[in-house]
Amino acid sequence: MINSNYKYSRCSDETMFDKPIMDVKSIIPAPKEIKKILDETVVGQEEAKKVLSVAVCDHYKRLYSVFLGSNTRIQKSNILLLGPTGSGKTLLAKALADILNVPFAMADATALTEAGYVGEDVESILTRLLNSADGDASRAEHGIIFIDEIDKLGRKGENPSITRDVSGEGVQQALLKILEGTVANVSPAGGRKKPNQEFVQIDTSNILFICGGAFEGIDKVVVERTRVKNSFGFGSAEMNSSGNSLDNEILSEDLVKMGMMPELLGRLPIVATLSRLTKQDLIRVLTEPSDSIVSQYKQLMAYDGIELTFTDGALEEIADIAFKKNIGARGLRSIMEKLLLDIRFELPSEKGVEKCAITKDTIKTGRPRVLRKVS
Ligand code: ADP
Repeated sequence: MINSNYKYSRCSDETMFDKPIMDVKSIIPAPKEIKKILDETVVGQEEAKKVLSVAVCDHYKRLYSVFLGSNTRIQKSNILLLGPTGSGKTLLAKALADILNVPFAMADATALTEAGYVGEDVESILTRLLNSADGDASRAEHGIIFIDEIDKLGRKGENPSITRDVSGEGVQQALLKILEGTVANVSPAGGRKKPNQEFVQIDTSNILFICGGAFEGIDKVVVERTRVKNSFGFGSAEMNSSGNSLDNEILSEDLVKMGMMPELLGRLPIVATLSRLTKQDLIRVLTEPSDSIVSQYKQLMAYDGIELTFTDGALEEIADIAFKKNIGARGLRSIMEKLLLDIRFELPSEKGVEKCAITKDTIKTGRPRVLRKVS
C-alpha cells in the first residue's frame, strides 16, 4: 500500500494483497480501533464514525475474501454521507483513507459532466485515484473515492416535490456505471481522451465509493412522508424547534424525492448521517484535534518567539460567529485568519513581545493583551 507519512497511517505497509496472510486482524484494524483513530481528528458525529468504521472494515474483509477465493460472496457496500456543509464529511473520508493507508481521490460532483461534454468527465476521478496510487493500477483498484455534493446532481428547484432535474441525471448514470463496477480506460495524464493515447485499465468493482451531500430540505421531505403515514394512523410528523424531523430516519424514497436516481441509491446501501455541529462542538474543533486550528496558530506565533493564548471567552465568541454563519467548522479558519491578521502582521516586528492573549474583547476591538519583556 502507499507508504504515507501521515500520522493516521496505522495500517501495516504490507498490503493484504502482497501475500496471503490468514490473520486479517494483523492487516485491518477492528472497527473500534478505526473509530478511536477517527476520534482524534473528527469531533462529534459518533453515529457516522461508528457506521463508517464497521463499513470500511467490512469492505476490506470483502476484498480479502475475494482475494482468498472464498465461496461466500460478500456484497460491496458503498457509503452515502448525509450532513450539512462543514460537518466533517470530507474529513471523515480522508481520515479513513489515511487509516487504511490506501490511495484516495476526491471529486466534486458539481464539476462533473457526462462524457463528451465540456468539463471533467466521471472517469477523470479514476485518473486522480491512479495518480494517488503512483500510477499503480492494482493499488488504485483498492482505493477510496469520495464524491462530494452528490445532492447537486438532483433537482435544482426549491420545491422538493418537483421531478428531478435532467442535467444531473447523465452524470448520475455515469457514476452508476463506475459504482457498479466497470473496467474503465483511464488516461494517466488526465484530460479528455485523445486518439492514440495510452490508457491504463482500471476495474472499479473493488473501489470503495463514499458520496457526500447536504441534501438541504430533506427534513421537510421526511416530515411530509411521516405526515402522510400519520394520516393512515401510523408514524409521526412532529418537528423540533430547529425545524428538524423528530423521526430522523431518512429513507431511500426521501432521497429519490430530492432528485437522486433509485438505481444510484441502490449502489449506496450504507447511509450515515452527520449532524450540524453545535457551538460546543465548534469550540472542540478549534482546540481538540492534534492539528487543531488553535495549535496551528500557536505554532506559527511560536516561531516569532511569541506565546499565543486564547481565553475561553474568545473561543466561545469565535465559535458563535461560525455557528451563526451556518457553515459549520468550514468558517472557523477564515474567522481566525481575519481576527489574527493585524496581530500577526504587527507583533513580530515589535520589540520584547513575549505573550499575546486573545480575549473576548479582542474579537470586538482587534486588540490583544500583550505581555512585553521589561528591558
Ligand atoms: P463537509 O461536511 O462540508 O465535507 P469538511 O469535512 O470539508 O466538511 O470540513 C471542513 C473543515 O472543517 C475540515 O477540514 C475540518 O478542519 C473542519 N471540520 C468539519 N467538521 C469537523 C469535525 N466534525 N471535527 C473536526 N473538524 C471538523
